Amino acid sequence: MITACVALGSNLQEPAQQLMAAVAALRGLEDSRLTRCSRVYSSAAVGPGEQPDYLNAAVMLETRLTPLALLDALQRIEARQGRERELRWGPRTLDLDLLLYGDQTLNLPRLQIPHPRIAERDFVLYPLADLLPADCELPGLGPLTALLAARPGADLQVVDLQLPEEHCR
Ligand code: ATP
Ligand code: CA
Ligand code: CA
Repeated sequence: MITACVALGSNLQEPAQQLMAAVAALRGLEDSRLTRCSRVYSSAAVGPGEQPDYLNAAVMLETRLTPLALLDALQRIEARQGRERELRWGPRTLDLDLLLYGDQTLNLPRLQIPHPRIAERDFVLYPLADLLPADCELPGLGPLTALLAARPGADLQVVDLQLPEEHCR
C-alpha cells in the first residue's frame, strides 16, 4: 500500500456538498482506504474573471492503485460531479489533484507528482499540512515546515464544516 494525498476544491454548485460527495466517492475507491481528512478552508478564487470563493480540503488514502490508475479514478469522480473543462483555472464543481504518492516523483505529460504547484498555493499547502506529520519532507520540495513558513496562509479561513470521515481532525 502507498500513502497518497489528494486535494479537493470546488467553487460551483454548493461547494460544501461537492466536497462531501467527493469524500464519499473517495471512500468507495477500489483497492484503497481513506485514512484522514483535513479541515475545510475557504479562499477567494485566483484565476480568470470574477469567480465565487473556493472551498478546499485534502484527504489521505492508502492505495494499491498505480498513480495513473488513481488519476483516472479521480477524473471519473470529477466527471460524475459535473466537472467541465472549458477555461484553464476557471470555476469548477470539483477539482481533485493528486498531490503526493508515497515519496515518488513522476513527470509524465498527464501526471506530475508532487503536484507542481503545491508550494505556491496556501489552499493546497494548509489542508495538506493537516494530514502530514510536522517534520515530514515532501519529495523534491524539502521540509513541510519551511514551505509553510514561506506562506503565512493569510488569505485562508477555516470553515466550520467537518468532512464525513471518522479520522477527520
Ligand atoms: P492546476 O493543475 O494548476 O491545479 P487545474 O487543476 O485547474 O490546474 P485541470 O484542468 O484539473 O487543471 O487538469 C489539467 C491536467 O493536469 C489534467 O488533465 C491532468 O492530466 C494533469 N495533471 C498533471 N499532474 C496532475 C496531478 N498531480 N493531479 C491531477 N492532474 C494532474
Ligand atoms: Ca487544481
Ligand atoms: Ca486538477
